[in-house]
Amino acid sequence: FIYLFNSNMTPGKNGVPVAENFRLEQSTIADTVQAGQVRVKTLYLSVDPYMRCRMNEDTGSDYLQPWQLSEVADGGGIGVVEESKHQNLAKGDFVTSFTWPWQTAAILDGDLLQKLVPQLVNGRLSYFLGAAGITGLTALLGVREKGHVAAGANQTMVVSGAAGACGSLAGQIGRLEGCSRVVGIAGTDEKCSILVQEMGFDAAINYKKGDVAKQLRELCPGGVDVYFDNVGGDISDTVISQMNQNSHIILCGQISQYNKDVPYPPPLPPDTEKILKERNITRERFLVLNYMDKQEASVLQLCQWIQEGKLKVRETVVEGLANIGAAFQSMMNGGNIGKQIVLVSK
Ligand code: NAP
Repeated sequence: FIYLFNSNMTPGKNGVPVAENFRLEQSTIADTVQAGQVRVKTLYLSVDPYMRCRMNEDTGSDYLQPWQLSEVADGGGIGVVEESKHQNLAKGDFVTSFTWPWQTAAILDGDLLQKLVPQLVNGRLSYFLGAAGITGLTALLGVREKGHVAAGANQTMVVSGAAGACGSLAGQIGRLEGCSRVVGIAGTDEKCSILVQEMGFDAAINYKKGDVAKQLRELCPGGVDVYFDNVGGDISDTVISQMNQNSHIILCGQISQYNKDVPYPPPLPPDTEKILKERNITRERFLVLNYMDKQEASVLQLCQWIQEGKLKVRETVVEGLANIGAAFQSMMNGGNIGKQIVLVSK
């Protein structure tokens, strides 16, 4: 069996993560499955921005533990049970966990696994790491808990990191929940065209080209009422400068600041703070893990929209455990459209 360890080349608090921060090793797992345990084959693994924080000794969050040097890394994963000594799990069951080890096979505590129903996502199991998993929940609950979206209120929503896993769903959900105009901000022309052609955004801005403030003014003539913020930094300062009185920010993430040695959420420039205050703009921290009591109903909602074709889902799939470090690096640099997935075995 193959294990993936993170090496002693961690990027440090101000470094950029690279594939070489991880290394692949071959090892064996125990021969016997103990009572309450299952032996699983890994099918899919997730790479996510929060993992950048787990590369630091201090993750900056009490709910995130740092990855330890030369230990197996872990994160969201999906697998199939090959042998079970757990009363509720049987051979052939599909299961998931937030702390799946980056291994091709593993022996896991059955109590820590959630059983999956593939029919809910038309058999697209990997969606449980994205649109029907934490990413979808983040988009849906972010909009519902912090967006103050009201049908018929003629609201304009702007989404940054719009072509990524959360962002691509958040814009579509903003529309489904009642926003009349949805504008995305993303890093390539291809991403912008997919947002408009496939995902029903009204417009999208490539932030690497041209004047973002000017394009935003043209595309949001009535100002911005709801801002789903995945990125922070200059992009967010620009969006906030065009937000309306009594408008709302969904503070989902600040990926543009994750390679820097700053606390979360990173401090805002004084001019932006002043705008927030003067215009009474809400900007409360949002953490999906605080809303897990709404997980079941929200996943069912997401699955229903997926089945009805109301929520369009994109994935970028990299094959092979050996490529998971490269997949993480690529996602952090914008190489993904939709959810970045690693296919470990078929
Ligand atoms: P993702 O958006 O699929 O992937 C990250 C994307 O960020 C890249 O594709 C890249 O797209 C963009 N990016 C990278 N560096 C950037 C920069 N300097 N400026 C602007 N954009 C940059 O990842 P995700 O899993 O959906 O996560 C999106 C955000 O949600 C992250 O901030 C994450 O931490 C946050 N999140 C929060 C919660 C919560 O509970 N609050 C839960 C899950 C995720 P471009 O090509 O557009 O640059």
